[in-house]
Amino acid sequence: MNCLVCAQQTMPGLSAWHRVCPACRYESAALEPTINDAQVHVQVDEAQREAGLKAIRQENFKTIIGYATAQAAPGARRLLDVGAAHGWFLEAASGHFQVLGMEPDTAVAQQTAARGLPVRQGFFPDALEADERFDVIVFNDVIEHIPDIRSALAACHERLTPGGILVLNLPNSRGFFYRLSKLFARAGWRAPFERLWQKGLPSPHVHYFQAENLSRLVGMQGLELKMTAELPAVRAAGMLERLRCASQGKMLGVYAQYAAVMLALPLLRMFPSDIVVCIYRKP
Ligand SMILES: [Zn+2]
Repeated sequence: MNCLVCAQQTMPGLSAWHRVCPACRYESAALEPTINDAQVHVQVDEAQREAGLKAIRQENFKTIIGYATAQAAPGARRLLDVGAAHGWFLEAASGHFQVLGMEPDTAVAQQTAARGLPVRQGFFPDALEADERFDVIVFNDVIEHIPDIRSALAACHERLTPGGILVLNLPNSRGFFYRLSKLFARAGWRAPFERLWQKGLPSPHVHYFQAENLSRLVGMQGLELKMTAELPAVRAAGMLERLRCASQGKMLGVYAQYAAVMLALPLLRMFPSDIVVCIYRKP
């Protein structure tokens, strides 16, 4: 199996489904998406999973919208949010752009549309009209789920107006928590590693990038790197809710974890973050 980015022979990783490129450090997983599979859908409490992440996502969305506003061409209006989920990014961006969301999960798309947000059910780019073009296309925690990422990036190039920008917000394989999870997996504790790949969830990750190998792949589709930035994966705001949500009611343990995380935050900031955002421009 050859690397998606640099075509070198990849090597077995930390699991039967995991492979790593020794040349560019691109990582892949042979995990099958089961989106819109009713049986899997029932097993995941979507609302609970999302609630714990809401505060940090919303803070990071504000930062991303600031970057997008700065990098977009003057007069940029139309923004497409691919994988809009519950519409939080659409809400945050609607004051700056004319927004459209796209969401493949039928139930989630219906809930978001019911809140009055402009979301279309379907996959990118199939659910777009033939002549639809955008000044900004955004993927928040989405591109790492798409098996045929080359075609998706080619479609981004096609669907962007000249000077339009592509915003990719995704997990960072240089991130502290991901690298720690690999250390644990080598020692035999695989749960954190599998959790970061979202193994067993309806739409697991199939790629793990860092800014360099991602930019090489995106560059092959004729898009130029404009900026990369790391976003905090852990913030004080919302941390108590996030831990409470994960622990299911054992409050003493939650407060102990909360204290530990708060003490560790300044130390964590010294390491690469687990979230990276890269912005590319169509010439
Ligand atoms: Zn490679």
